[in-house]
Amino acid sequence: MEQRQFFLEPSEMPTKWYNIVADLGKLPPPPLNPATMQPAEQSDLSAIFCDPIIEQEISTDRWIDIPEEVLEAYSMWRPTPLIRATRLEKALGTPAKIFYKYEGTSPAGSHKPNTAIPQVYYNKIAGIKRLTTETGAGQWGTALSLACNIYGLEAVVYMVRCSYEQKPYRRSMIKLWGATVYPSPSEHTKFGHTMLEKDPDCPGSLGIAISEALEDTVTSQNTKYALGSVTNHVVLHQTIIGQEAKAQMEKAGVYPDVVIGCVGGGSNFGGVAFPFLKDKIEGKSNVRAVAVEPASCPTLTKGEYKYDFGDTAQMTPLFKMYTLGADYIPPSIHAGGLRYHAMAPLVSMVYNNGLAEAVAYPQTAVFQAALQFIATEGIIPAPESSHAIRAAIDEALKAKETGEPKTILFNLSGHGHVDMYAYDAYLAGNLTDG
Ligand SMILES: *Cc1c(COP(=O)(O)O)cnc(C)c1O
Repeated sequence: MEQRQFFLEPSEMPTKWYNIVADLGKLPPPPLNPATMQPAEQSDLSAIFCDPIIEQEISTDRWIDIPEEVLEAYSMWRPTPLIRATRLEKALGTPAKIFYKYEGTSPAGSHKPNTAIPQVYYNKIAGIKRLTTETGAGQWGTALSLACNIYGLEAVVYMVRCSYEQKPYRRSMIKLWGATVYPSPSEHTKFGHTMLEKDPDCPGSLGIAISEALEDTVTSQNTKYALGSVTNHVVLHQTIIGQEAKAQMEKAGVYPDVVIGCVGGGSNFGGVAFPFLKDKIEGKSNVRAVAVEPASCPTLTKGEYKYDFGDTAQMTPLFKMYTLGADYIPPSIHAGGLRYHAMAPLVSMVYNNGLAEAVAYPQTAVFQAALQFIATEGIIPAPESSHAIRAAIDEALKAKETGEPKTILFNLSGHGHVDMYAYDAYLAGNLTDG
């Protein structure tokens, strides 16, 4: 029987994160303070982030040690498996080999704890007792709650009210890990109060929730803020995915022609692709890296590369990134984790200089791919991750046409067990491209 799963021993787990900044030769253009339009000072960032995180955000070191305590927490579920999708290959009748790295084995069900854990750890050693954040559908809120539970910090999650009410199960997970979750807008901040005064039935938005979390941070003692994507340090932490995948593919005796990841803020894509792009920058491989986004929020394929705010309320510094505009409100699609108007500055940089490609798909095509994956490989993928599956299937079908033996790697960023409302809509025939 052919080997389908490729594991690493605990001793083979990477002990450093890979910082692509060293090989790109420069950091992304600096964030700007919106009041002065000058590069943000360390003090602008230290109002919301602790020092060890800021150091990583601006680091140009190629390798950054993963602390022993973080490795210990990672070992709860890492190294994650690399699986060859042989049943999917057969169903497609493709000569291509398809591999996927499965990040749904984490306790929160996605790749997000890869960064939640080190972020909470660094805040803990910096003496911080409490972390705030926002969450849309709840993936990031669950990951941060899990990590705060591990290290004994208090977590406060502002969850977009319509998700809080319509998608209750991640809210329950947040509570089970001991965190506090408020529907946003809430009465716990001045900004939330103002929003509720204007409209008591306000459904909320990610921008409002970010504003509440930031206000809570700067008005509370021993409190900082944690971000689930976009920033350099988040992408850095996610590179454990690509490094493990590289070692596992070596065990499988293959090297990918193409590496695929879905993109919301860009962190799981950067995480899986950057360790391979290192080889490309060094001229050792010609690997393609493909970022997959929803057609309804086409940040890379239709956005502009310019300075923009990270949030709708325009409270964050300005970052140089691909953006649809900070006031862009993407249509409500089921891959909530991909509804972000902008893209990580590092992912924006590699896309802008031609190291990575991007493709956009409408959600019906994405759900068709998810159903084909469920029927063959059995795993029920998150709607976000299904974007990567769509692109992997299309690469495999192209290989079938040309007869080219191709090796495809995609990141399966999470499972869809808490996304049944999306699958129910699909099954009921209520899922459209809007
Ligand atoms: C949050 C999330 C994403 C999108 O975030 P990135 O920062 O682009 O990786 C993708 N997949 C899953 C399962 C998520 O929870």
